[in-house]
Amino acid sequence: DDRMIPTTTSADGTILPLLGQGTWHLGDDPARAATEIAALREGIELGMSLIDTAEMYGSGRSENLVGEAIAPVRDEVYLVDKVLPANASEAGTIEACERSLDALGTEHIDLYLLHWPGAHPVDATIAAFERLRDRGLIGTWGVSNFDSDEIAALPEVPQVNQVLFNPSRRGPEFDLLPAHRSSRPHITTMAYSPVEQGRLLKDPTLAEVARRHGVTSAHVLLAWAMRSGDVIAIPKASSPEHVRANAAAVDIELTSDDLADIDRDFPAPTSPTPLEVI
Ligand code: NDP
Repeated sequence: DDRMIPTTTSADGTILPLLGQGTWHLGDDPARAATEIAALREGIELGMSLIDTAEMYGSGRSENLVGEAIAPVRDEVYLVDKVLPANASEAGTIEACERSLDALGTEHIDLYLLHWPGAHPVDATIAAFERLRDRGLIGTWGVSNFDSDEIAALPEVPQVNQVLFNPSRRGPEFDLLPAHRSSRPHITTMAYSPVEQGRLLKDPTLAEVARRHGVTSAHVLLAWAMRSGDVIAIPKASSPEHVRANAAAVDIELTSDDLADIDRDFPAPTSPTPLEVI
């Protein structure tokens, strides 16, 4: 398979695939572990080599499963993990990272995110991120679920902001994505729940666009998320079949008619819209 997943370059110069793999709920059911590991490995082989996990997901079960899946190919993977806001004091962030590295069975996390804004002063979290980076335990750091005002208030520019973004959650298009793009250095956007956890797969308009291309609604949604060339989508799939289907999303190009049909049912925001979360 010589399909190429398109890429974007983050502020530190790292080349990242526009399609990665989410892992929320992977590892929850031991009977499915072998299939889920096969799915992640197949995705890595297909170029979806950015893998997103969090200490929150199954209280370490997702990290355990991801660690097992990537062990033979660790160097080919860009590993993203997240610290819970409740743990994000300076000392707490360092302890959480050490626990996560242990759960993952790896020596470093490529990108470490604050999962959402919390009560601990973000300066303390960032101080911990910098210490972790100095020790080589993380490559770089970012945030998740930060709205434009919260991004603007950060004392330093995060590498990434991971947010809820799909046709039914277009708020970020009004001011957050523009703020990411105009920030110096720029902030890379990661779109989570790109298929709205499966709910948008039943939408008739998306199904009609998919029918015109001879593909599925999942393809259309991933192509939509990636359409501007600088947003990374991280769909979660628990079978090799779904992973292969998702990788094939890079083969379709949405036409202006497709985009207009989607805009009609899911209008772009025309005023500031508070960031939604799942
Ligand atoms: P997604 O929008 O990725 O939807 C996942 C669902 O879609 C699963 O039920 C999956 O089924 C199904 N699916 C995936 N691909 C296909 C396909 N080709 N055909 C049919 N069905 C498909 O939801 P998530 O909420 O999981 O979001 C993705 C990732 O984003 C998470 O796993 C997590 O890593 C991250 N995330 C981050 C958050 C944050 O706060 N930072 C919040 C939420 C998510 P199946 O499992 O059967 O393959």
